[in-house]
Amino acid sequence: HLDRIEEVDGAVHAFLHVDTEGALDAARAVDARIASGEQPASPLAGVPLALKDVLTTEGIPTTCGSRTLEGWLPPYDATVTRRLREAGVPILGKTNMDEFAMGSSTENSAFGPTRNPWDRDRIPGGSGGGSSASLAAFEAPLAIGTDTGGSIRQPGSVTGTVGVKPTYGGVSRYGLVAFSSSLDQAGPCARTVLDAALLHEVIGGHDPLDATSVDAPVPAVVAAAREGARGDLTGVRVGVVREFSGNAASAGGSASAGGEGYQPGVLTSFEAAVQQLRELGAEVVEVSCPNFTLALPAYYLIAPSECSSNLARFDAMRYGLRVGDDGTRSAEEVMSLTREAGFGAEVKRRIMLGTYALSSGYYDAYYGSAQKVRTLISRDFDAAFERVDVLVSPTTPTTAFKIGERADDPMAMYLADLCTIPSNLAGNAAMSVPSGLSADDGLPVGLQIMAPALADDRLYRVGAAYE
Ligand code: GLN
Repeated sequence: HLDRIEEVDGAVHAFLHVDTEGALDAARAVDARIASGEQPASPLAGVPLALKDVLTTEGIPTTCGSRTLEGWLPPYDATVTRRLREAGVPILGKTNMDEFAMGSSTENSAFGPTRNPWDRDRIPGGSGGGSSASLAAFEAPLAIGTDTGGSIRQPGSVTGTVGVKPTYGGVSRYGLVAFSSSLDQAGPCARTVLDAALLHEVIGGHDPLDATSVDAPVPAVVAAAREGARGDLTGVRVGVVREFSGNAASAGGSASAGGEGYQPGVLTSFEAAVQQLRELGAEVVEVSCPNFTLALPAYYLIAPSECSSNLARFDAMRYGLRVGDDGTRSAEEVMSLTREAGFGAEVKRRIMLGTYALSSGYYDAYYGSAQKVRTLISRDFDAAFERVDVLVSPTTPTTAFKIGERADDPMAMYLADLCTIPSNLAGNAAMSVPSGLSADDGLPVGLQIMAPALADDRLYRVGAAYE
Protein backbone atom coordinates (compact mmCIF):
# COMPACT_ATOMS: atom_id res chain seq x y z
CA HIS A 1 0.00 0.00 0.00
CA LEU A 2 2.89 2.38 0.64
CA ASP A 3 4.11 1.64 -2.90
CA ARG A 4 0.65 2.27 -4.27
CA ILE A 5 0.45 5.59 -2.40
CA GLU A 6 3.81 6.53 -3.90
CA GLU A 7 2.51 5.63 -7.34
CA VAL A 8 -0.92 7.30 -7.40
CA ASP A 9 -1.25 9.80 -4.59
CA GLY A 10 0.40 12.59 -6.55
CA ALA A 11 -2.70 12.48 -8.78
CA VAL A 12 -5.36 11.54 -6.19
CA HIS A 13 -4.09 13.52 -3.18
CA ALA A 14 -5.96 11.41 -0.64
CA PHE A 15 -3.21 11.89 1.98
CA LEU A 16 -2.01 14.99 3.79
CA HIS A 17 0.69 13.05 5.60
CA VAL A 18 2.10 9.56 5.02
CA ASP A 19 3.74 7.93 8.04
CA THR A 20 5.90 5.37 6.26
CA GLU A 21 8.13 4.53 9.22
CA GLY A 22 5.29 4.39 11.73
CA ALA A 23 3.27 2.07 9.50
CA LEU A 24 6.23 -0.22 8.87
CA ASP A 25 7.09 -0.34 12.59
CA ALA A 26 3.51 -1.29 13.43
CA ALA A 27 3.55 -4.00 10.74
CA ARG A 28 6.88 -5.37 12.02
CA ALA A 29 5.49 -5.50 15.55
CA VAL A 30 2.62 -7.67 14.29
CA ASP A 31 5.10 -9.97 12.51
CA ALA A 32 7.23 -10.24 15.65
CA ARG A 33 4.22 -11.07 17.79
CA ILE A 34 3.13 -13.84 15.42
CA ALA A 35 6.70 -15.17 15.14
CA SER A 36 6.83 -15.48 18.93
CA GLY A 37 3.81 -17.76 18.82
CA GLU A 38 1.34 -15.26 20.28
CA GLN A 39 -2.12 -14.69 18.81
CA PRO A 40 -2.48 -11.49 16.77
CA ALA A 41 -4.14 -8.70 18.75
CA SER A 42 -7.22 -8.61 16.49
CA PRO A 43 -8.55 -10.01 13.20
CA LEU A 44 -7.25 -6.82 11.55
CA ALA A 45 -3.70 -7.01 12.92
CA GLY A 46 -1.36 -6.06 10.09
CA VAL A 47 -4.10 -4.67 7.82
CA PRO A 48 -3.16 -1.04 7.11
CA LEU A 49 -5.54 1.88 7.39
CA ALA A 50 -5.93 5.52 6.34
CA LEU A 51 -7.00 7.87 9.13
CA LYS A 52 -8.98 11.06 8.59
CA ASP A 53 -6.91 14.03 9.70
CA VAL A 54 -9.53 15.13 12.24
CA LEU A 55 -8.51 12.42 14.74
CA THR A 56 -5.50 13.13 16.89
CA THR A 57 -2.34 11.07 16.53
CA GLU A 58 0.38 11.53 19.12
CA GLY A 59 3.47 13.03 17.50
CA ILE A 60 1.95 12.89 13.98
CA PRO A 61 0.61 16.13 12.45
CA THR A 62 -3.14 16.61 12.73
CA THR A 63 -4.38 19.56 10.70
CA CYS A 64 -8.12 19.03 10.12
CA GLY A 65 -7.38 20.41 6.64
CA SER A 66 -6.75 23.85 8.17
CA ARG A 67 -3.86 26.29 8.23
CA THR A 68 -4.89 26.99 11.81
CA LEU A 69 -3.42 23.68 12.95
CA GLU A 70 -0.37 23.70 10.71
CA GLY A 71 2.66 22.70 12.73
CA TRP A 72 0.64 21.32 15.66
CA LEU A 73 1.73 17.94 16.99
CA PRO A 74 -0.97 16.44 19.19
CA PRO A 75 0.29 15.34 22.61
CA TYR A 76 -2.17 12.43 22.71
CA ASP A 77 -3.94 9.78 20.63
CA ALA A 78 -7.68 9.86 20.02
CA THR A 79 -9.40 6.80 21.48
CA VAL A 80 -10.03 5.58 17.92
CA THR A 81 -6.31 5.93 17.16
CA ARG A 82 -5.35 4.14 20.37
CA ARG A 83 -7.73 1.25 19.69
CA LEU A 84 -6.36 0.87 16.17
CA ARG A 85 -2.80 0.76 17.48
CA GLU A 86 -3.75 -1.76 20.16
CA ALA A 87 -5.42 -3.92 17.49
CA GLY A 88 -2.17 -3.99 15.47
CA VAL A 89 -3.58 -1.89 12.62
CA PRO A 90 -0.73 0.03 10.92
CA ILE A 91 -1.73 3.64 10.26
CA LEU A 92 -0.52 4.59 6.78
CA GLY A 93 -1.15 8.29 7.26
CA LYS A 94 -3.67 11.07 7.62
CA THR A 95 -6.25 11.76 4.94
CA ASN A 96 -7.40 14.99 3.34
CA MET A 97 -10.69 16.57 4.31
CA ASP A 98 -12.75 19.73 4.08
CA GLU A 99 -11.45 22.18 6.67
CA PHE A 100 -12.73 21.11 10.12
CA ALA A 101 -15.05 18.66 8.29
CA MET A 102 -17.19 21.44 6.81
CA GLY A 103 -18.06 20.57 3.24
CA SER A 104 -19.19 17.90 0.82
CA SER A 105 -16.37 17.85 -1.72
CA THR A 106 -12.98 18.10 0.06
CA GLU A 107 -12.47 21.33 -1.93
CA ASN A 108 -12.49 23.27 1.36
CA SER A 109 -9.17 21.73 2.43
CA ALA A 110 -6.49 24.39 2.87
CA PHE A 111 -4.09 21.92 1.25
CA GLY A 112 -5.84 21.47 -2.10
CA PRO A 113 -8.61 19.11 -3.18
CA THR A 114 -8.63 15.32 -3.35
CA ARG A 115 -9.62 13.87 -6.70
CA ASN A 116 -12.14 11.09 -7.28
CA PRO A 117 -10.23 8.02 -8.58
CA TRP A 118 -13.18 7.20 -10.89
CA ASP A 119 -12.75 10.53 -12.71
CA ARG A 120 -10.05 12.83 -11.47
CA ASP A 121 -11.91 15.94 -12.62
CA ARG A 122 -14.60 15.13 -10.07
CA ILE A 123 -14.91 15.48 -6.31
CA PRO A 124 -14.53 12.43 -4.03
CA GLY A 125 -17.25 13.73 -1.73
CA GLY A 126 -16.64 15.33 1.61
CA SER A 127 -15.75 16.10 4.15
CA GLY A 128 -13.94 12.75 4.29
CA GLY A 129 -13.04 12.62 0.61
CA GLY A 130 -9.46 11.59 1.34
CA SER A 131 -10.46 8.49 3.30
CA SER A 132 -12.94 7.24 0.69
CA ALA A 133 -10.67 8.11 -2.25
CA SER A 134 -7.81 6.17 -0.62
CA LEU A 135 -10.03 3.07 -0.68
CA ALA A 136 -11.26 3.58 -4.24
CA ALA A 137 -7.66 4.12 -5.43
CA PHE A 138 -6.51 0.96 -3.62
CA GLU A 139 -4.09 3.00 -1.50
CA ALA A 140 -5.60 1.52 1.66
CA PRO A 141 -8.00 -1.35 2.34
CA LEU A 142 -9.57 0.35 5.37
CA ALA A 143 -10.12 3.92 6.46
CA ILE A 144 -11.70 5.96 9.21
CA GLY A 145 -14.06 8.84 8.56
CA THR A 146 -16.25 11.11 10.65
CA ASP A 147 -19.86 11.91 9.87
CA THR A 148 -21.58 15.03 11.18
CA GLY A 149 -24.08 15.38 8.36
CA GLY A 150 -22.97 12.74 5.87
CA SER A 151 -19.19 12.96 5.64
CA ILE A 152 -18.66 9.19 5.77
CA ARG A 153 -21.66 8.12 3.68
CA GLN A 154 -21.62 10.75 0.93
CA PRO A 155 -17.92 10.19 0.03
CA GLY A 156 -18.60 6.44 0.23
CA SER A 157 -21.46 6.83 -2.22
CA VAL A 158 -19.59 8.87 -4.82
CA THR A 159 -16.45 6.70 -4.70
CA GLY A 160 -18.22 3.32 -4.83
CA THR A 161 -17.13 2.30 -1.33
CA VAL A 162 -18.83 1.39 1.95
CA GLY A 163 -19.22 3.98 4.72
CA VAL A 164 -20.94 3.60 8.07
CA LYS A 165 -22.07 6.24 10.54
CA PRO A 166 -22.52 4.23 13.74
CA THR A 167 -25.12 5.14 16.34
CA TYR A 168 -24.18 8.45 17.99
CA GLY A 169 -21.96 7.58 20.95
CA GLY A 170 -21.12 4.15 19.54
CA VAL A 171 -17.54 5.18 18.74
CA SER A 172 -15.67 7.51 21.10
CA ARG A 173 -15.28 11.18 20.17
CA TYR A 174 -12.27 11.59 22.49
CA GLY A 175 -9.55 13.14 20.31
CA LEU A 176 -11.96 13.80 17.42
CA VAL A 177 -11.49 17.54 16.86
CA ALA A 178 -15.01 18.85 17.44
CA PHE A 179 -17.11 20.45 14.71
CA SER A 180 -20.65 19.90 15.99
CA SER A 181 -20.43 17.83 19.15
CA SER A 182 -24.03 16.60 19.24
CA LEU A 183 -23.71 15.26 15.67
CA ASP A 184 -20.05 14.23 15.15
CA GLN A 185 -19.51 10.48 14.89
CA ALA A 186 -16.45 8.53 13.75
CA GLY A 187 -16.97 5.34 11.78
CA PRO A 188 -15.53 2.74 9.42
CA CYS A 189 -14.90 3.09 5.67
CA ALA A 190 -14.03 0.01 3.60
CA ARG A 191 -14.54 -1.67 0.25
CA THR A 192 -16.83 -4.39 1.61
CA VAL A 193 -19.47 -4.52 4.32
CA LEU A 194 -17.65 -7.29 6.20
CA ASP A 195 -14.42 -5.26 6.24
CA ALA A 196 -16.35 -2.31 7.66
CA ALA A 197 -17.86 -4.58 10.33
CA LEU A 198 -14.45 -5.89 11.39
CA LEU A 199 -13.22 -2.32 11.72
CA HIS A 200 -16.37 -1.21 13.54
CA GLU A 201 -15.76 -3.82 16.23
CA VAL A 202 -12.15 -2.64 16.69
CA ILE A 203 -13.01 1.05 17.14
CA GLY A 204 -16.45 0.81 18.81
CA GLY A 205 -17.47 0.50 22.43
CA HIS A 206 -17.74 2.49 25.60
CA ASP A 207 -15.06 5.03 26.48
CA PRO A 208 -15.08 6.76 29.87
CA LEU A 209 -13.12 9.64 28.27
CA ASP A 210 -16.19 10.63 26.19
CA ALA A 211 -19.18 11.69 28.27
CA THR A 212 -21.56 10.96 25.38
CA SER A 213 -20.18 7.48 24.74
CA VAL A 214 -22.87 4.81 24.92
CA ASP A 215 -22.30 2.40 27.80
CA ALA A 216 -23.50 -0.71 25.97
CA PRO A 217 -21.80 -3.57 24.14
CA VAL A 218 -20.86 -2.95 20.49
CA PRO A 219 -23.67 -4.36 18.32
CA ALA A 220 -22.63 -7.74 16.84
CA VAL A 221 -21.92 -6.29 13.42
CA VAL A 222 -19.47 -8.92 12.18
CA ALA A 223 -21.93 -11.74 12.87
CA ALA A 224 -24.65 -9.67 11.17
CA ALA A 225 -22.49 -9.12 8.08
CA ARG A 226 -21.77 -12.85 7.86
CA GLU A 227 -25.46 -13.63 8.28
CA GLY A 228 -26.36 -11.10 5.58
CA ALA A 229 -23.79 -12.51 3.17
CA ARG A 230 -25.93 -15.65 2.97
CA GLY A 231 -28.29 -13.54 0.89
CA ASP A 232 -31.58 -14.17 2.64
CA LEU A 233 -33.59 -11.22 3.94
CA THR A 234 -36.78 -13.16 4.60
CA GLY A 235 -38.65 -11.53 7.47
CA VAL A 236 -36.78 -8.22 7.21
CA ARG A 237 -39.09 -5.23 6.75
CA VAL A 238 -37.62 -2.43 4.62
CA GLY A 239 -39.18 1.03 4.42
CA VAL A 240 -38.64 3.23 1.38
CA VAL A 241 -38.61 6.86 2.55
CA ARG A 242 -41.18 8.52 0.31
CA GLU A 243 -39.68 12.01 0.79
CA PHE A 244 -36.28 10.83 -0.48
CA SER A 245 -37.35 8.67 -3.37
CA GLY A 246 -37.39 11.58 -5.75
CA ASN A 247 -41.09 11.92 -6.50
CA ALA A 248 -41.04 15.56 -7.44
CA ALA A 249 -44.24 16.36 -5.55
CA SER A 250 -43.16 14.88 -2.24
CA ALA A 251 -39.39 15.34 -2.38
CA GLY A 252 -40.04 18.61 -0.66
CA GLY A 253 -39.06 22.21 -0.58
CA SER A 254 -35.36 21.82 -0.01
CA ALA A 255 -34.60 19.90 -3.18
CA SER A 256 -36.65 22.01 -5.52
CA ALA A 257 -35.96 25.32 -3.80
CA GLY A 258 -32.25 24.84 -4.49
CA GLY A 259 -32.99 24.14 -8.14
CA GLU A 260 -31.41 20.74 -7.71
CA GLY A 261 -33.25 17.48 -7.87
CA TYR A 262 -32.41 13.83 -8.07
CA GLN A 263 -30.36 12.70 -11.02
CA PRO A 264 -32.38 10.22 -13.14
CA GLY A 265 -29.60 7.60 -13.04
CA VAL A 266 -29.54 7.75 -9.24
CA LEU A 267 -33.29 7.09 -9.08
CA THR A 268 -33.08 4.21 -11.57
CA SER A 269 -30.31 2.65 -9.52
CA PHE A 270 -32.36 3.14 -6.34
CA GLU A 271 -35.42 1.47 -7.86
CA ALA A 272 -33.25 -1.46 -8.94
CA ALA A 273 -31.81 -1.69 -5.42
CA VAL A 274 -35.28 -1.82 -3.88
CA GLN A 275 -36.27 -4.55 -6.33
CA GLN A 276 -33.14 -6.51 -5.40
CA LEU A 277 -34.01 -6.24 -1.70
CA ARG A 278 -37.44 -7.69 -2.53
CA GLU A 279 -35.81 -10.53 -4.43
CA LEU A 280 -33.63 -11.28 -1.41
CA GLY A 281 -36.84 -11.87 0.53
CA ALA A 282 -37.35 -8.51 2.26
CA GLU A 283 -40.82 -7.12 2.67
CA VAL A 284 -40.74 -3.62 1.18
CA VAL A 285 -43.22 -0.90 2.10
CA GLU A 286 -43.33 2.84 1.52
CA VAL A 287 -42.99 4.98 4.63
CA SER A 288 -43.54 8.70 4.97
CA CYS A 289 -41.24 10.79 7.16
CA PRO A 290 -42.73 14.24 6.51
CA ASN A 291 -40.26 16.21 8.62
CA PHE A 292 -37.19 14.86 6.81
CA THR A 293 -37.53 17.69 4.29
CA LEU A 294 -36.80 20.11 7.15
CA ALA A 295 -33.61 18.32 8.19
CA LEU A 296 -31.26 20.27 5.94
CA PRO A 297 -32.29 23.77 7.15
CA ALA A 298 -32.33 22.58 10.79
CA TYR A 299 -28.85 21.10 10.39
CA TYR A 300 -27.49 24.34 8.93
CA LEU A 301 -28.53 26.14 12.10
CA ILE A 302 -27.49 23.51 14.65
CA ALA A 303 -24.13 22.53 13.13
CA PRO A 304 -22.88 26.13 12.63
CA SER A 305 -24.11 27.06 16.13
CA GLU A 306 -22.07 24.29 17.71
CA CYS A 307 -19.13 25.03 15.40
CA SER A 308 -19.08 28.71 16.41
CA SER A 309 -18.65 27.59 20.01
CA ASN A 310 -16.23 24.71 19.37
CA LEU A 311 -13.89 26.69 17.12
CA ALA A 312 -13.50 29.43 19.73
CA ARG A 313 -10.68 27.29 21.15
CA PHE A 314 -8.47 28.29 18.22
CA ASP A 315 -7.33 31.46 19.90
CA ALA A 316 -3.74 31.62 18.58
CA MET A 317 -2.42 30.72 22.03
CA ARG A 318 -3.04 27.03 22.39
CA TYR A 319 -2.59 25.41 18.99
CA GLY A 320 -0.64 25.71 15.74
CA LEU A 321 -0.65 28.96 13.83
CA ARG A 322 0.09 32.33 15.47
CA VAL A 323 0.16 35.45 13.31
CA GLY A 324 1.46 38.92 14.18
CA ASP A 325 2.93 38.05 17.58
CA ASP A 326 5.87 40.48 17.32
CA GLY A 327 5.61 42.03 20.77
CA THR A 328 3.71 45.12 19.59
CA ARG A 329 0.19 43.67 19.48
CA SER A 330 -2.36 42.73 22.10
CA ALA A 331 -3.47 39.13 22.55
CA GLU A 332 -6.79 40.05 21.00
CA GLU A 333 -5.14 41.50 17.89
CA VAL A 334 -2.98 38.39 17.49
CA MET A 335 -6.06 36.20 17.87
CA SER A 336 -7.96 38.18 15.31
CA LEU A 337 -5.08 38.17 12.78
CA THR A 338 -4.55 34.45 13.32
CA ARG A 339 -8.20 33.54 12.85
CA GLU A 340 -8.38 35.77 9.77
CA ALA A 341 -5.38 34.03 8.21
CA GLY A 342 -5.97 30.54 9.55
CA PHE A 343 -9.61 29.85 8.68
CA GLY A 344 -10.96 29.45 5.16
CA ALA A 345 -14.13 31.01 3.76
CA GLU A 346 -16.52 28.16 4.63
CA VAL A 347 -15.34 27.95 8.23
CA LYS A 348 -15.76 31.72 8.62
CA ARG A 349 -19.23 31.52 7.06
CA ARG A 350 -20.27 28.86 9.57
CA ILE A 351 -18.85 30.74 12.56
CA MET A 352 -20.78 33.85 11.53
CA LEU A 353 -24.01 31.91 10.87
CA GLY A 354 -23.73 30.11 14.17
CA THR A 355 -22.90 33.21 16.17
CA TYR A 356 -25.93 34.93 14.65
CA ALA A 357 -28.24 31.97 15.28
CA LEU A 358 -27.17 31.86 18.93
CA SER A 359 -27.32 35.59 19.57
CA SER A 360 -29.81 36.99 22.06
CA GLY A 361 -33.04 37.96 20.35
CA TYR A 362 -32.51 35.38 17.58
CA TYR A 363 -31.78 32.30 19.65
CA ASP A 364 -35.40 31.15 19.95
CA ALA A 365 -36.27 31.91 16.35
CA TYR A 366 -33.29 30.08 14.86
CA TYR A 367 -31.49 27.69 17.19
CA GLY A 368 -34.62 26.99 19.25
CA SER A 369 -36.76 26.23 16.19
CA ALA A 370 -34.08 24.00 14.73
CA GLN A 371 -33.97 21.97 17.95
CA LYS A 372 -37.73 21.50 17.77
CA VAL A 373 -37.43 20.25 14.18
CA ARG A 374 -34.75 17.88 15.39
CA THR A 375 -37.27 16.36 17.81
CA LEU A 376 -39.86 16.03 15.04
CA ILE A 377 -37.34 14.16 12.89
CA SER A 378 -36.60 11.74 15.73
CA ARG A 379 -40.34 11.14 16.06
CA ASP A 380 -40.61 10.42 12.33
CA PHE A 381 -37.90 7.80 12.76
CA ASP A 382 -39.60 6.32 15.84
CA ALA A 383 -42.91 6.01 13.99
CA ALA A 384 -41.22 4.48 10.95
CA PHE A 385 -39.25 1.95 13.01
CA GLU A 386 -42.49 0.70 14.56
CA ARG A 387 -43.39 -0.54 11.09
CA VAL A 388 -40.05 -1.48 9.54
CA ASP A 389 -36.60 -2.76 10.58
CA VAL A 390 -34.59 -0.45 8.31
CA LEU A 391 -35.26 2.51 6.04
CA VAL A 392 -33.64 2.99 2.63
CA SER A 393 -33.02 5.93 0.29
CA PRO A 394 -30.39 7.01 -2.19
CA THR A 395 -27.34 8.20 -0.23
CA THR A 396 -26.97 11.33 -2.36
CA PRO A 397 -29.23 12.99 -4.91
CA THR A 398 -26.49 13.01 -7.58
CA THR A 399 -23.25 11.25 -8.46
CA ALA A 400 -19.86 12.99 -8.05
CA PHE A 401 -19.94 16.49 -9.46
CA LYS A 402 -17.06 18.28 -11.17
CA ILE A 403 -14.38 19.96 -9.11
CA GLY A 404 -15.28 23.65 -8.97
CA GLU A 405 -18.88 23.14 -10.06
CA ARG A 406 -20.46 24.00 -6.70
CA ALA A 407 -17.49 25.75 -5.09
CA ASP A 408 -19.11 29.21 -5.26
CA ASP A 409 -22.61 28.03 -4.41
CA PRO A 410 -22.87 26.94 -0.77
CA MET A 411 -26.58 26.10 -1.12
CA ALA A 412 -25.90 23.68 -3.99
CA MET A 413 -23.05 22.16 -1.98
CA TYR A 414 -25.29 21.69 1.07
CA LEU A 415 -27.82 19.69 -0.99
CA ALA A 416 -25.34 16.81 -1.26
CA ASP A 417 -26.35 15.88 2.31
CA LEU A 418 -30.09 16.05 1.84
CA CYS A 419 -30.63 12.35 2.54
CA THR A 420 -27.89 11.73 5.10
CA ILE A 421 -28.59 14.47 7.66
CA PRO A 422 -31.75 13.05 9.32
CA SER A 423 -29.77 10.15 10.82
CA ASN A 424 -27.28 12.58 12.39
CA LEU A 425 -30.01 14.74 13.87
CA ALA A 426 -31.68 11.67 15.39
CA GLY A 427 -28.41 9.97 16.41
CA ASN A 428 -29.31 6.82 14.48
CA ALA A 429 -27.06 4.41 12.63
CA ALA A 430 -26.77 4.60 8.83
CA MET A 431 -24.68 3.07 6.05
CA SER A 432 -23.94 3.76 2.42
CA VAL A 433 -23.30 0.66 0.34
CA PRO A 434 -22.30 0.69 -3.36
CA SER A 435 -25.32 0.39 -5.63
CA GLY A 436 -23.71 0.06 -9.05
CA LEU A 437 -23.01 2.75 -11.59
CA SER A 438 -25.44 5.39 -12.76
CA ALA A 439 -26.82 4.73 -16.24
CA ASP A 440 -26.46 8.39 -17.21
CA ASP A 441 -22.79 9.01 -16.39
CA GLY A 442 -21.25 5.69 -15.39
CA LEU A 443 -20.31 6.96 -11.92
CA PRO A 444 -20.88 5.17 -8.59
CA VAL A 445 -24.19 5.42 -6.77
CA GLY A 446 -24.82 4.56 -3.11
CA LEU A 447 -27.76 2.96 -1.35
CA GLN A 448 -28.38 4.40 2.11
CA ILE A 449 -29.65 2.03 4.81
CA MET A 450 -30.83 3.56 8.11
CA ALA A 451 -31.47 1.72 11.39
CA PRO A 452 -32.58 2.71 14.88
CA ALA A 453 -30.00 3.74 17.49
CA LEU A 454 -28.02 0.76 18.79
CA ALA A 455 -29.31 -1.46 15.97
CA ASP A 456 -26.22 -0.96 13.80
CA ASP A 457 -26.16 -4.73 13.18
CA ARG A 458 -29.26 -4.38 10.96
CA LEU A 459 -27.29 -2.17 8.56
CA TYR A 460 -24.64 -4.83 8.19
CA ARG A 461 -27.10 -7.66 7.66
CA VAL A 462 -29.01 -5.82 4.93
CA GLY A 463 -25.88 -4.22 3.45
CA ALA A 464 -24.00 -7.52 3.18
CA ALA A 465 -27.01 -9.24 1.61
CA TYR A 466 -27.34 -6.41 -0.90
CA GLU A 467 -23.72 -5.75 -1.94
N1 GLN B 1 -21.37 18.33 4.32
C1 GLN B 1 -21.89 18.57 5.63
C2 GLN B 1 -21.36 19.88 6.14
O1 GLN B 1 -20.76 20.56 5.38
C3 GLN B 1 -21.53 17.44 6.53
C4 GLN B 1 -20.13 17.45 6.96
C5 GLN B 1 -19.77 16.33 7.87
O2 GLN B 1 -20.49 15.32 7.99
N2 GLN B 1 -18.66 16.50 8.56
O3 GLN B 1 -21.52 20.25 7.25
